[in-house]
Amino acid sequence: MTSLEAKTSAFPGLAKKLSRLIQFATVSSYTVTDEVEEGFSGLIDELPLLFPKLHRALKLEKPSDRALLYTWKGSDPSLAPAILCAHFDVVPEGNSQDWEQGAFSGAIVDGQLWGRGSQDIKVLMASIMEAAEQLLDQGFKPRRTILFAFGGDEEVGGTRGAGAIARHLAEKGVRASFLVDEGGPISIGMLSFAPRPLALVGVAEKGYADLLVTTKGKGGHASMPPKDSATVNLAKAIVAMQNKPFPARITGTLKAFLRRLSMISAQPYRFLFRFAGLTAPFIKAAFSATPTTNALIRSTVACTMLKGSPKENVLAEKAQATLNVRILPGESSVSVIDRLNALAAPFGAEVKVKHEGQVVEASNESSTEHEGWGYIEHALSLSHPEAFCLPFLFSAATDTKHYRDIAEAIYRFTALPQSQEDLARVHAANERVKISDLERCASFYTNLIGSL
Ligand SMILES: [Zn+2]
Repeated sequence: MTSLEAKTSAFPGLAKKLSRLIQFATVSSYTVTDEVEEGFSGLIDELPLLFPKLHRALKLEKPSDRALLYTWKGSDPSLAPAILCAHFDVVPEGNSQDWEQGAFSGAIVDGQLWGRGSQDIKVLMASIMEAAEQLLDQGFKPRRTILFAFGGDEEVGGTRGAGAIARHLAEKGVRASFLVDEGGPISIGMLSFAPRPLALVGVAEKGYADLLVTTKGKGGHASMPPKDSATVNLAKAIVAMQNKPFPARITGTLKAFLRRLSMISAQPYRFLFRFAGLTAPFIKAAFSATPTTNALIRSTVACTMLKGSPKENVLAEKAQATLNVRILPGESSVSVIDRLNALAAPFGAEVKVKHEGQVVEASNESSTEHEGWGYIEHALSLSHPEAFCLPFLFSAATDTKHYRDIAEAIYRFTALPQSQEDLARVHAANERVKISDLERCASFYTNLIGSL
């Protein structure tokens, strides 16, 4: 950052604050004892030093050691609260050799800030808190109550963080109007024909399940194999499932996405998208052509792991495959498993949930008519006037799954312009953010909070 930029920036201290947050290695793990406690406690202790006004004006509760809940009380109790979320844990650095600047350096070089969390997603935590600092400085008082909900284990399921906050809010009977968490970016160049950057606001999230397909056989010596063995039947069952993909469906979210996209598209796209009911066969065929768009119109099944006999010359008594399944909104894990069982049954295969209690159903589809959508669109028109807001099916899992009963509408959006190349650095080496983008992200939150 040059000194000129520093002087003219609306958020002169923000990059240094985010840099500080990145320097705490808050790597979450499924094995709790692998987590370095000092990283988490250090970050939490640092927050009041970085954001002092917020800590004086807002109430802070800690439903768990990985959960921070700030309450900014509104003046009008008749308005339902809004919840703004982020998480402060990160994934491991990976191979440190691949990083040009250290993963936990928070280095600021040539207008960019480097390190884990700079894109996913300490960037939002810093932006939200800095926006609040600035608004408090201006004497702003919100009409509706605003909650900041920050979890410290999103990357490993979010139970200790967002889960604890959601349980705490449920106990208090809090019912929010809407919630905004991390999600789709302001996508640069995703659709070659789109004339503007597309703000992909996730209004729905796919469900998630790991399934186990099992076949059984007699076992015995491999020198005299029967016609039907556990492994062959498993292979046949997998091929049968592969050959019959889930039916394509244009969800409410996709219909809304296409309708809005038609507004900024030239012909023939304008017609195709505007009348998705009429042109459904064409849209389904076109979307089926690439894995990315295919995932938007159907539940998907990926066979990721295989297991047979433990020895080269022994027939398997049991063969198993793991399926990673992503469920389209409108379908359930039960209906998906039923369908897979029907396809697998002719080969003596049975499909079951692999880890009980770890299935996440597909979310509801939040409306673009809800007031929450309006607030997001308005804030974005001020912070990123070049971007066009589109409702989107978000394919990755976020903390929002914990808040389904807490908020009426849920939106998943990260106000950062991102090309495919930028997105490839998330969870990979050289994660970084342009400081000008960081400041515009904070400006999105200033405008959002300022209108609540
Ligand atoms: Zn994240």
